[in-house]
Amino acid sequence: MTENQRIANLIFGNSVLPTESYEQEYTLRNISDEQRVTRFAPSPTGYLHFGGLFTCFVNSLVAHSSNGIFYLRIEDTDSKREIEGGIKYIIDGLNHFGIIPDEGYTSSDAVKGNYGPYKQSERAHIYHSFAKKLMENGYAYPCFCTEDELSLVRAEQQLNKEKTGYYGKYAKCRELSYEEIKQKLDSGLPYVVRLHSPGSEENKVVFDDMIKGRIEMPENDEDIVILKSDGIPTYHFAHVVDDHLMRTTHIIRGDEWISSVPKHIQMFKLLGFKVPKYAHLSPILKEEDGNKRKLSKRKDPEAAVDYYISQGYPKESVIEYMLTIANSTFEDWRKANKTEDISSFPFNLKKMSVSGALFDINKLNDISKNVISTFSAEKVYNNVLEYARVYDKDLFDLLSKDKEFAVKIFSIDRQNAKPRKDIAKWNEVKDYINYFYDSNFNINLPDNITKENAVNVLSAYKDVFDENDDNQQWFEKIKSICPQINFCPDTKTYKANPELYQGSAGDASTVIRCAVTGRTNSPTLCDIMKVLGKDECINRIDNAIKYLKEV
Ligand code: GLU
Repeated sequence: MTENQRIANLIFGNSVLPTESYEQEYTLRNISDEQRVTRFAPSPTGYLHFGGLFTCFVNSLVAHSSNGIFYLRIEDTDSKREIEGGIKYIIDGLNHFGIIPDEGYTSSDAVKGNYGPYKQSERAHIYHSFAKKLMENGYAYPCFCTEDELSLVRAEQQLNKEKTGYYGKYAKCRELSYEEIKQKLDSGLPYVVRLHSPGSEENKVVFDDMIKGRIEMPENDEDIVILKSDGIPTYHFAHVVDDHLMRTTHIIRGDEWISSVPKHIQMFKLLGFKVPKYAHLSPILKEEDGNKRKLSKRKDPEAAVDYYISQGYPKESVIEYMLTIANSTFEDWRKANKTEDISSFPFNLKKMSVSGALFDINKLNDISKNVISTFSAEKVYNNVLEYARVYDKDLFDLLSKDKEFAVKIFSIDRQNAKPRKDIAKWNEVKDYINYFYDSNFNINLPDNITKENAVNVLSAYKDVFDENDDNQQWFEKIKSICPQINFCPDTKTYKANPELYQGSAGDASTVIRCAVTGRTNSPTLCDIMKVLGKDECINRIDNAIKYLKEV
């Protein structure tokens, strides 16, 4: 037995399984070269940034567009970052937008797949096996340096204007013998396990990032901690072991990890693993006072995925928007394939923005109006009801009392050649429909119509109104009352000599609109009146006449 093997046994004991048994347990996936295995690996911080949702979405796209596998792994090795319910919060957020992994945590309490456990805190035995292997090969060692000792080293490095960290000649525990280690262990000294880096800053490591292109960086020469004093691994080490055993083909993550890639590649190689492909996503940017900066958790409410849920953006809108920032070719594709499902969009990782896409809430709103305009009335009803159940109890009660009535409201100007595009998110619906439920509104006539004329329009219209009229008949009826109240039935004639009339047929319909809806602008009034029914319309017209006579 070599000295390194004896040290490894001393540290890990004999109960640790050999790495081969894990290699056998987690067999190579039965997939072709084209199929990609990707993952989203959140820490349970209880906060899901829009950038996180985006990263997750891109991972699922890359896997699914290749008929591959997308899984979710929970990286909970840093208990300081963990909050209670943090996992549930994040996974519920992803699920809300229809992102359901094929493997790993599919919801906060459901796990599936043969490559688990999918939570790092449950994989300590696996990390220990691979750390032991590194130690046996002389690529890891126990380090007993205290915080104070490390501070002294840092101070010395700063004084010498050298790079700080535990490396080279400063890595004094590198050289500890079996006997020295045994003695320290016997006296109960705490220790961490460090990588024994064979790298040198003089050498370069080169890799091809699928988004950023070829990247060249100095090799890692730092003896980074791989197991903390409680035996829990650090992120760097855990993810290398996990991505290998879970047979990840593509690591797609935020570009804040680029600087760590030399460490990761080094560990993949020292462990004898194949290095996966990398794609680092640029952060989503926001323009402020002419400058671009990262979408910030602290400054921007729209940085939190919660924002989109509480505002009531449908998942289809957010997904559609994410595709526009993922690939600049998506918008043209959408124009040419208006009704196509997004799964047939040929997403290309290599066409992602290298510098970072700009976040634009107005664009999201436009996209969402478009998306919602394609929904059936029933779908709008169900979505709004689900939203209101959580965020607006009054609206929920109103809508659930009479589903048929609500669906009729949502049917107006929908599923025709030119559907209206008024609603971007469900929190706008209450305002949009409230006049159907509440006639207690003010009548604000446009400036060009006097109260007397409005009363004349309404009184004359009452006699001809028939709720069974279609849109054309409805307008003919309005024209038919024009002569008796000196309004002009024909727009052209009116425009030629407006002074000869009290108003046009269009003005007359505006008056009716004000009386029935309290607004000067609304979806097709004829349809609104059908939904309200004859009695309610006459009632509203009578009330308006009364009001206009009184004020
Ligand atoms: N747990 C890491 C994070 O939350 C994931 C990084 C990765 O995807 O490798 O940032």
